[in-house]
Amino acid sequence: MAQLSPLLKQATPVVVDHGEGVYLYDTEGNRNLDFTAGIGVTSTGHCHPRVVAAAQEQVGKLIHGQYTTVMHKPLLELTERLGEVLPSGLDSLFFANSGSEAVEASLRLARQATGRPNVIVFHGGFHGRTVATASMTTSGTRFSAGISPLMAGVHVAPFPNAFRYGWDVKTATDFALQELDYLFATVSAANETAAFVIEPVLGEGGYVPGNTEFFAGLRQRADEHGILLIIDEVQTGFGRTGKFWGHDHFDVRPDVVVIAKGLASGFPLSGIAASKELMSKAWPGSQGGTYGGNAVSCAAAAATLSVIQDEGLVENAAERGRQLLDGARLVADKTPAIGDVRGLGLLVGSEFTTAEGKADSATAAAVQKAAAARGLLLLTCGAHMNVVRMIPPLVVTAEQIDEALAIWADAVASVTG
Ligand code: PMP
Repeated sequence: MAQLSPLLKQATPVVVDHGEGVYLYDTEGNRNLDFTAGIGVTSTGHCHPRVVAAAQEQVGKLIHGQYTTVMHKPLLELTERLGEVLPSGLDSLFFANSGSEAVEASLRLARQATGRPNVIVFHGGFHGRTVATASMTTSGTRFSAGISPLMAGVHVAPFPNAFRYGWDVKTATDFALQELDYLFATVSAANETAAFVIEPVLGEGGYVPGNTEFFAGLRQRADEHGILLIIDEVQTGFGRTGKFWGHDHFDVRPDVVVIAKGLASGFPLSGIAASKELMSKAWPGSQGGTYGGNAVSCAAAAATLSVIQDEGLVENAAERGRQLLDGARLVADKTPAIGDVRGLGLLVGSEFTTAEGKADSATAAAVQKAAAARGLLLLTCGAHMNVVRMIPPLVVTAEQIDEALAIWADAVASVTG
């Protein structure tokens, strides 16, 4: 009898029968509050009726259009719809299937467009699991250990991670920008650097938001040296942070945005957006793929965009995000085990630390397990896996946030006493 490979690691023992909205119903008949949203994917909730209807209708018309052979209506329609929400000037789109593929597409574009070899990423960033994107991932060695040689030309600069340094945000930001300049002087000359690749909020790296001054510093250096600013919005896009794009919080203009996850409510779809001028610097046919821009995924994405707009999900993420952050801070106030609570919108992380201020992954894992046993599904993140993150669907209600916070408080108390 065949079995799933042991190389796959599962955060909870749950086997799902079906999902509806914010809940996952398991095969034992339990109802679980899903505060993982499939790692930030099911923003419209599980099986939103409008997404289901759009996908079902499309399945009966065309499943696989194959965009390097023929063009199809759902892809053209989605491209037009995305034009309404993309940052101004980023009106040229290329589609792929996963976040990793799209990050890699942005890297290929940046190297081809600039003719430069290097890319600078920021410490704690996660950009994927393919060998190239694992090379760009510094949120934990677990993503790159044992697969070397990694891709050459990747250099790492500090992210303004104030809590980790034990500094205020201004000091951490000044330090990060100063080190970036030092990197130009010592490791990757600015004129050999094709791009900065950065998340607005470190996701897998522990839910650490960037800030306006830091992004202004990156933009200024990008302009001065002809470096492209690639913003990886895979986890932060489509309303997740309480604004449409994560980088909207920091008033910065990207040259490329990378999109996936919340784009299509769970159907595999990703992409990059840039100006037509930039995209034209890569030659036609330099990127493609068998499945990219799948017709059913595109139809689901168009319906997802309509739901985000019609149900005010960006505003809901902002309001419910505040409620969740405030509630998580109240829980942290009652225990010394949680050293920091932070986030933007419906991306909220609680960082577990020991009395000496060291990362406490054992307590984080125990609390995550205790929450799952009480019907609240959560994930961990951070270099040491000591941050428990809450990332519910954007359709979550005030009552469901309260329900989750009550379980959270109970789970934390059960482990930390
Ligand atoms: N970039 C970011 C910011 C992500 O959070 C992820 C996935 N967690 C990826 C890229 C990779 O996406 P995928 O798993 O779809 O390849």
